[in-house]
Amino acid sequence: MSAVGENIRRIREEIAEAALRSGREPSEIRLMAVTKTVDDKRILEAIEAGVDIMGENYIQEAKRKIEAMDVDVKWHMIGHLQSNKAKYAVRLFDMVHSVDRMGLAAELDKRSAAADRVTDILVEVNVSGEESKSGVRADDAPALVREIARLDNLSIRGLMTMPPWFDDPEDARPYCVALRELKDRIAAEEIPGVEMRELSMGMSGDYRVAVEEGATIVRVGTAIFGARV
Ligand SMILES: *Cc1c(COP(=O)(O)O)cnc(C)c1O
Repeated sequence: MSAVGENIRRIREEIAEAALRSGREPSEIRLMAVTKTVDDKRILEAIEAGVDIMGENYIQEAKRKIEAMDVDVKWHMIGHLQSNKAKYAVRLFDMVHSVDRMGLAAELDKRSAAADRVTDILVEVNVSGEESKSGVRADDAPALVREIARLDNLSIRGLMTMPPWFDDPEDARPYCVALRELKDRIAAEEIPGVEMRELSMGMSGDYRVAVEEGATIVRVGTAIFGARV
C-alpha cells in the first residue's frame, strides 16, 4: 500500500474510534482529502484508497485537476471564493463549503440557474471571531441562512468552520461545540428548504475532536499527504 493509502487507513480507523467513543456510527462521517498543491499521482493514490471527496481551495488549480484527471469522485470547494468566480465554482464543484455572505450566494444562485442546476452549499461560520478568518459571524449566521434559503438554485445542507490552529487539539473543542449548537439552533427554526445535516469541521490536527463533537465531513490534507510545499 502507498504511504498515502496507509495514512488514510489509519485516519479512517481513528475516525471510527472517535465516532464510537461519542456514540455515533462511523458511517455518519465522510473523509475529504484536501488536495491543494497535491500532485495528481498522490490524489490518485487517495482515490485508490477509497476516498471519494476531494477538497480544493483555488478555482484555477481545481479546474486543471478536475478536467485533466477525469475521475469519478466529488469535488468540493473549501477555499475563499470571490463572487466573480461563482460561474466556475458552479460548473466545477458538487458542493461549496465557503459561502459566507449574501453577495456570493446571490451570484452562485444566478449562475446555478443559468446552468439549470441546484448547487449544494454550506454556510461558513467564523466561530472564533478572528479578524483574519473568512466566514459569517456566528450571531449573523441564522439571518444569512434565512436569506439564502429564499434562493431557488441553492440548497443549504449545513455549516462549515475552520477553528484557529492549536498545538493541543482539545483547544479546538469549544469551537466545534459552538458550530454544532449553532446548527441545532438553526435547524430548530425549520426554515423551508434548509437541511441542517452537514457539519464540515476537523482538519489534520483536530479531526478526532471534531468527530466527537458531531462532524459529518472532516477535511484532512497534511495528515494524508504530508506537509504542503
Ligand atoms: C487546507 C485546508 C484544510 C486541510 O488542512 P490540513 O491541516 O492540511 O489538514 C482544511 N480546510 C480548509 C478550509 C483548508 O483550507
